[in-house]
Amino acid sequence: MKILSVNAGSSSLKFTMLELPEEKVIISGTFEKIGLDDSFYTIKYNGNKDKKEAKLENHTDAVKILLDELINYKVIKSYDEIDGIGHRIVHGGDKYTESVVIDDDVLKTVEDLVPLAPLHNPANLVGIRSFKEVLPNTKMVAVFDTAFHQTMSKEEYLYALPYEWYQRYGVRRYGFHGTSHRFIATKMKEMLGEDKKIISCHIGNGASICAIKDGKSIATSMGFTPIAGVIMGTRCGDIDVGLLPYVMSQTKEKFDDVMTDLNKKSGVLGLTGVSSDMRDVEEGYNNKDERCITALNMYANKIVEYISMYNTKLEGADYIVFTAGVGENSDLMRELIIKRLEFMGVKLDSEKNHQRGINGEISTDDSSIKVYVIPTDEELMIAKDTYNLINE
Ligand code: AMP
Repeated sequence: MKILSVNAGSSSLKFTMLELPEEKVIISGTFEKIGLDDSFYTIKYNGNKDKKEAKLENHTDAVKILLDELINYKVIKSYDEIDGIGHRIVHGGDKYTESVVIDDDVLKTVEDLVPLAPLHNPANLVGIRSFKEVLPNTKMVAVFDTAFHQTMSKEEYLYALPYEWYQRYGVRRYGFHGTSHRFIATKMKEMLGEDKKIISCHIGNGASICAIKDGKSIATSMGFTPIAGVIMGTRCGDIDVGLLPYVMSQTKEKFDDVMTDLNKKSGVLGLTGVSSDMRDVEEGYNNKDERCITALNMYANKIVEYISMYNTKLEGADYIVFTAGVGENSDLMRELIIKRLEFMGVKLDSEKNHQRGINGEISTDDSSIKVYVIPTDEELMIAKDTYNLINE
């Protein structure tokens, strides 16, 4: 079966077409700057990457070109060959604990949840509606970023705030990156043959840590929004909210502008003033740039805080898994993190850690907690959920 896995952002649309159950990627691509003058798209097929310019006024334009290109690249002969489409949806609130087939009810709920994810859910909805317009009869599935964390206990997801805020307005920890953490849980079970206690570190431009027990999320570092937790590319992670009125009084900025600073100008970018990209900051670190050294040490420290906390919650983790852009590629960051855990017997095999494209164990045989690198694959997870639900 041919399944399309789709991730629609406010001005972008990413897709991957996979053959299921073989789990083989057929073609993938990204439409960027939708709605802007310099919009373009790239298609990856058979090891080649083609970049093309195109006027993309809206997401429906992107969907139409995408479908035409599937025919041009001879991936399909007609649109009916697309058996299902899985959409990544950021917020499913506390209603969705797993993926669901999209119907009018689901669309309404995702719409109702827009106040909880004002930047993401509207873009995800535009993606669904654009495909519906062009392929009204193709089955579609919603895969929620929050769903995996719905297994957290009340003690874990509540904030110590006026209780009515939770009851009336749904103010609580939701957690994100659930599809990636679920991929790690599933992959580790496949590899080990049983569920182990795992601390999953999804560290990319966005980053979150998740404690997994019996294949379920029991705690995660992102909160009501994705700004909470560890230090990210441009997001601040955990801070003292008491600083907000002070900053506003000093900078004379409006609240929305301060929030933009916290989301887009903080984290590694804020600390270094150079870049949000770990590759640039590592270059600065290697060239002894003081701010880059401080930023990377703080970044590692914060992740270590969460690993330590989750090791306690799990009453002793069996595995630490690194994934996403930084986790998969930065041997330096993995080393900075694991060095801080050496006192408790966690030991990195430095030869394995330095290998490019490593996929598997990077700890020594006698390490108290095993350390793995597993490349995440959210597209595959979305496609598998879609395949399973449309075959039910
Ligand atoms: P993601 O959000 O998972 O796509 O991760 C993107 C981030 O991964 C980039 O912004 C970089 O900070 C980081 N990254 C990618 N490749 C490398 C690399 N070779 N070394 C260090 N960091 C990397």
